[in-house]
Amino acid sequence: MNDLEKLTEYFREFPGIGPRQAKRFVYFLLRKNDNYIKELSNLIPKIKQNTAVCSRCQKYFTKRHNENLCDICSSKNRDPSKLMIVARDTDLETIEKSGSFNGFYFVLGGLLPHLEEDAQKFIRIKELKELLLLTKEKAKEIILALNANPDGDNTANYLKKFLSKEFSNVKISVLGRGLSTGSELEYADKETIFNALENRK
Ligand SMILES: [Zn+2]
Repeated sequence: MNDLEKLTEYFREFPGIGPRQAKRFVYFLLRKNDNYIKELSNLIPKIKQNTAVCSRCQKYFTKRHNENLCDICSSKNRDPSKLMIVARDTDLETIEKSGSFNGFYFVLGGLLPHLEEDAQKFIRIKELKELLLLTKEKAKEIILALNANPDGDNTANYLKKFLSKEFSNVKISVLGRGLSTGSELEYADKETIFNALENRK
């Protein structure tokens, strides 16, 4: 395999990228000047170094010192009675940008695929349990904010069962279907998120 093919293979591993797009990325880079290439290749090890996973919500954040909590988890101005569970960092970002939620979050790190039951393999169920044990007295409501598709539904069903067994005193709600079926939370606009939250049940 030559270097051009090797780089194409790297890009192919990116989420949502097929072989033709991967090759287009390589040709795009070939057309860029040396400065661009240098900055890009310096940035990758740098973000790896400066980024940590929050020990509470599990989201990625940029470290300033040696802190292990993200800005949201260390904030004193948020409502501890509400915890929202999302699949990925990008979903959390979309909801934060909408400005319609002021509680805390937990990032599952993925979804439990349709018909799959082995949660440990796909989502951070152990970390979620630890967080809930820690916040038990405070969290009054857990909001499941997951994609409206078969994987999202399977995850929601699994979590509902798990949470009602382990934390029966907490109210569990799911986002209202202002999010149309099959839609991805990450791409929802501000108004849709606001409505989905208002209509949670
Ligand atoms: Zn956090």
